[in-house]
Amino acid sequence: MNRDYLQQQSTRLEQEYEALSVELYSALNAIRADSTEKEQPEKAINELLTLATHSAEPELRSKARRLEAIDAALCAIRLDLYGICTDCEEPIDKATLAQDPAQPRCHQCQSHSKYHHQRS
Ligand SMILES: [Zn+2]
Repeated sequence: MNRDYLQQQSTRLEQEYEALSVELYSALNAIRADSTEKEQPEKAINELLTLATHSAEPELRSKARRLEAIDAALCAIRLDLYGICTDCEEPIDKATLAQDPAQPRCHQCQSHSKYHHQRS
């Protein structure tokens, strides 16, 4: 992976991360009646994720999962493991990563994981 490419993917991921955390923050702030403090989204991100993951709202749960996937991808970039499939450790196709920079699995493992997901 060259540096420019990683930088570019990282920027895309950070932008999406920021947009999603702002969305989750405002959605959950409306629900969180017990809290009056005005926190910054980035400071409350773990709490947001916990709340969103346990939310009854499917849209919030899927946004929380997306945020976690983006966070994992950003972490992989820092650890120099970006573009490596988390299941089989083979390189992930660049076209797949261009379509979704947070994709943690290669094409083959994606179909495998979808299959298991649908059955469970
Ligand atoms: Zn794989």
